[in-house]
Amino acid sequence: MRRRTFLIAAVGALGTSVLAACTPQPRPTRSPSPTPSPTATTQPPASAVPQPASMLRSRWSVDPFALGAASFAAVGATSASRDDLAAAVDDRVFFAGEATSRDAPGTVSGAIDSGSRAADEVISASDGSERIGVIGAGVAGLTAARALLDAGYDVVVVEARDRVGGRIDARTGGSWPLTVDLGPTMIADGDEALHSAVVAAGGDVVSFGRADEVRTAAGTAVAVSGVGAAAVADAVEWSSQQPHDVPLSFAIGQSEAGALSTTPDEAGVSDADWLSHQLDSVVQPRTSATDERLSAWNGGATTPGDGVGGAIPLAGFGTLADELADGVDVLLRSVVTRVVTRNDKVSLRLRTGESLTVDRVIVTLPLGVLKSGSVVFEPELPLPKARAVSILGMGDSDRVWLRFDEPFWSTDATVWSTIAAGSPVGLWVNLLPDTGYPVLVGTVAAAEAARLAAIDDDATVLAELLASLEPFLDEAKRADAEGTGTATPTPTPSDAQSG
Ligand SMILES: Cc1cc2nc3c(=O)[nH]c(=O)nc-3n(C[C@H](O)[C@H](O)[C@H](O)COP(=O)(O)OP(=O)(O)OC[C@H]3O[C@@H](n4cnc5c(N)ncnc54)[C@H](O)[C@@H]3O)c2cc1C
Repeated sequence: MRRRTFLIAAVGALGTSVLAACTPQPRPTRSPSPTPSPTATTQPPASAVPQPASMLRSRWSVDPFALGAASFAAVGATSASRDDLAAAVDDRVFFAGEATSRDAPGTVSGAIDSGSRAADEVISASDGSERIGVIGAGVAGLTAARALLDAGYDVVVVEARDRVGGRIDARTGGSWPLTVDLGPTMIADGDEALHSAVVAAGGDVVSFGRADEVRTAAGTAVAVSGVGAAAVADAVEWSSQQPHDVPLSFAIGQSEAGALSTTPDEAGVSDADWLSHQLDSVVQPRTSATDERLSAWNGGATTPGDGVGGAIPLAGFGTLADELADGVDVLLRSVVTRVVTRNDKVSLRLRTGESLTVDRVIVTLPLGVLKSGSVVFEPELPLPKARAVSILGMGDSDRVWLRFDEPFWSTDATVWSTIAAGSPVGLWVNLLPDTGYPVLVGTVAAAEAARLAAIDDDATVLAELLASLEPFLDEAKRADAEGTGTATPTPTPSDAQSG
């Protein structure tokens, strides 16, 4: 049984009870998967795809200062949840960060805007002679700090890592011909403000020529179909008629999307496969969430091609973070463990036992960190905010960068995905046409991101990645490998590194 068929059957069996819908549903395993289970690590599968010259990958879900990649609208969460998260406590403890952005959560722009908003709130609540603390030197914190500094405040940023940027993690040097950003890699189409900010920070930007190609496990390119996107739109429409929010997966099971044909066409692809493709290659990479957790009301709506496009900053987003941090007093390697408000002052307690006292603070901790409770607030956060922390979701997503000495593919398509192939990678971006470098950037999202992030061994992960690229292997190279039997177990790349 194909993965989606199984899911639809499982969801259908739940009946119409909304209560039942809120019970976590097991994510079925992908039946035609070429990928091994995380424990089956002894023999990586043979791959005809050549070994990359370099590999870098992020592991955001196990990063203690992120604990996930981006916030998402989980079942029950609304824009009001983000407003509750953003609301200041007694004009003394202010909040910013991508998760507080109503308009652009999970983006660099949303984080920047939230930092500006929080700085404005501090300015309205105080006079310019105060000392302001900012927790976190991601773009939200740095934007807030910069604005307050420009307004004449005494500002100190307290950052847990040994670098600024947070989820912007730009790596340069080594054998890489361009900057590898293990977080954001794209400026969305039409985001002129971010485009200008990156250029002003000295970064080169090339426009990204989007051209999609979808292939089956056998390597057959199939015409991109709108069936999956239409099915998700049907499910979202069905949910809008319901009295309660439900998981997108449940809405799919109850709407017409649940009755999609599972009969494969001559390429071996069914309508139900297109629905799976829409979820795995569009919805999950865009939201970082599985359809079992995503709100049908507020998280499900997507358009084909959502989330990939626009422009690529060749120097990554690191130049932007560095520019924002220029001249700002940032205390690196300083992990905040307690935020104590008393007598019109805020004390920031550090893991080292030290503390510093400020008049007000802007908290830009990622939602995953807030959820973990690793930073304690005294007094406790007000109920609406605690509820927002709990009800909003923190999703998982990772980037994998592979650099090859020469391309093993012959397609000029820039966005690759597979259908009915069980790939852990939602989509691959081929940077060759736009940058001239044979570099592929994969996005692994939601449950697959969490699964791969839990694997320490890069060689094991690389074996899965190369298997997922086999459908894109150039025909002649595939024939060579099959004819001469040169497919080899995947070796460890000499300079493999984790983020
Ligand atoms: C894989 C991935 C791909 C993405 N792709 C894109 C994209 O293509 N385009 C786009 O626009 N956006 C993208 N994003 C989203 C974007 O990167 C984020 O929305 C944005 O960078 C978040 O900024 P922030 O300042 O809110 O949070 P962060 O950057 O996470 O900053 C929070 C800071 O708080 C620090 N911190 C945590 N705990 C503590 C503590 N206890 N004490 C002190 N400091 C602490 C952290 O180290 C961090 O520096 C992507 C994100 C990921 C992970």
